[in-house]
Amino acid sequence: MSAVERAEHVVRGTLARFPGRVALACSFGGPSGMALLDLALRVDSELPVYYIDTGLLFAETYALVERAAQRYDIAPIRLYPELSVEGQTERYGDALWARDPDRCCAMRKVAPHRAFLEGYDAWFTGIRRAQSITRADIEPVAHDGSRLVKVSPLFDWTDDDVWSYVNANDVPVNALHADGYPSIGCLPCTRRPHADADARSGRWAAFAKTECGLHQRTEAARG
Ligand code: SF4
Repeated sequence: MSAVERAEHVVRGTLARFPGRVALACSFGGPSGMALLDLALRVDSELPVYYIDTGLLFAETYALVERAAQRYDIAPIRLYPELSVEGQTERYGDALWARDPDRCCAMRKVAPHRAFLEGYDAWFTGIRRAQSITRADIEPVAHDGSRLVKVSPLFDWTDDDVWSYVNANDVPVNALHADGYPSIGCLPCTRRPHADADARSGRWAAFAKTECGLHQRTEAARG
């Protein structure tokens, strides 16, 4: 079975196990998520697709949301935090992300994500083992620290697998990849990584932090 066939198998199995109860998370910030978006929509063109708009995304990311919406004839669901960026600054002071990024991510990403998934049993994500040392042991199907099942159909894809799929299927990707950003999150917390560093090392580069909180505390799920 090829990498693509394995991923399709995981997607089909999940949709059969949780009919109408699965949504696909896409950050529009990396090629893996875009490859998964393309692959999953081929299996189910009605699959709900969502993204978390922290209010701090790059212009290129918002542009990609629009491009993907047109290309796939979808309406990505926009999740947003309770506080606007200005509201957060009023309550917590200027640039919380530069002082306490865990707290900032918890409010701007994790909380709206959790609230949205109340209506689902499982979610798809494009994370892969090859992306970083902290993702090296992810399983294709896992509990995400809650009742929810997190499904990573591309778990064993290499970087080459991703780019081969993207190029073969003309999948739209973030324009910032061509400008030296392999992994793109919020503008204040994303830098170009050094040439020999892993793709995610430009995220929260000033901190030991490596994840926003959506992908922590997982364990393999049975069945
Ligand atoms: S990535 Fe940075 S700006 Fe975005 S929510 Fe997390 S800490 Fe805040």
